[in-house]
Amino acid sequence: MLYAILSDIHSNATALARALEEIDHHTDEPVDQIWCLGDIVGYGPDPNECIELLRDRNHLGIAGNHDWGIAGLASLDHFSFAARLVAEWTRDQLTPDNLAYLQHLATTLTVEDCTLVHGSPRDPIWEYLLSTDQADANFPLFATRLCLVGHTHVPTIFLQAEERADSEMTPEGTPAVAGEAHAEEDEETLLASCDLLEPGEGWWQVPPYCRAIINPGSVGQPRDGDPRAAIAFYDPERGFNFRRLEYDIVAVQERILAAGLPRRLAERLAYGM
Ligand SMILES: [Zn+2]
Repeated sequence: MLYAILSDIHSNATALARALEEIDHHTDEPVDQIWCLGDIVGYGPDPNECIELLRDRNHLGIAGNHDWGIAGLASLDHFSFAARLVAEWTRDQLTPDNLAYLQHLATTLTVEDCTLVHGSPRDPIWEYLLSTDQADANFPLFATRLCLVGHTHVPTIFLQAEERADSEMTPEGTPAVAGEAHAEEDEETLLASCDLLEPGEGWWQVPPYCRAIINPGSVGQPRDGDPRAAIAFYDPERGFNFRRLEYDIVAVQERILAAGLPRRLAERLAYGM
């Protein structure tokens, strides 16, 4: 099986179309399903197009804070001035059908060995998972080996060593390596914080005896200084393939300005910030 993971499309239909082209034509096996980690809309000029491009596909979608704000499920008081302005504009643009689609998105889904949320298992809509301390607090809150998140718009991996006790027991049930030093080391392993990794492009496999929280980055408004659209593929046997895709940013900027949306939202696309 091969899955494509898209997050934070943010009404950028040009970036989404580029991601779908990659999904359709540039994988070595067909993609079985798209997993969308929320914030389909908000910030960008193409809310209906983005929802419809996704709805045409076999996909699983979960809700992000912008989806909820625009769908009337969260107060826009939590939004920045620009985000709120675009949320109100987006609400006016959406067809009733597409608005209903946003209103019915789940906040958490479990599929294969992955939990899908927008923010974090602790707070699926709102928490920005930025630090290893936050990730440590969230690892006990999902039952699968992996958790996929979006929301920060930055490709990130939090990696936590699993309790290794089971793997180090002999069939008789006694530890394979005895001794006080080993016991202390084990305790340290259990108490150790997770690691924060920045994925480069290409395939990456979760190491054995580890759990991971993985953010593929943002399709429509990357914030890691790289303006190219970020997507990831997941093959339960081969792991994750992180990709960056160039697309026609100027065309999106022109539509943002033509719609009368804040200029800064157009400008930031060029910087990936
Ligand atoms: Zn977002």
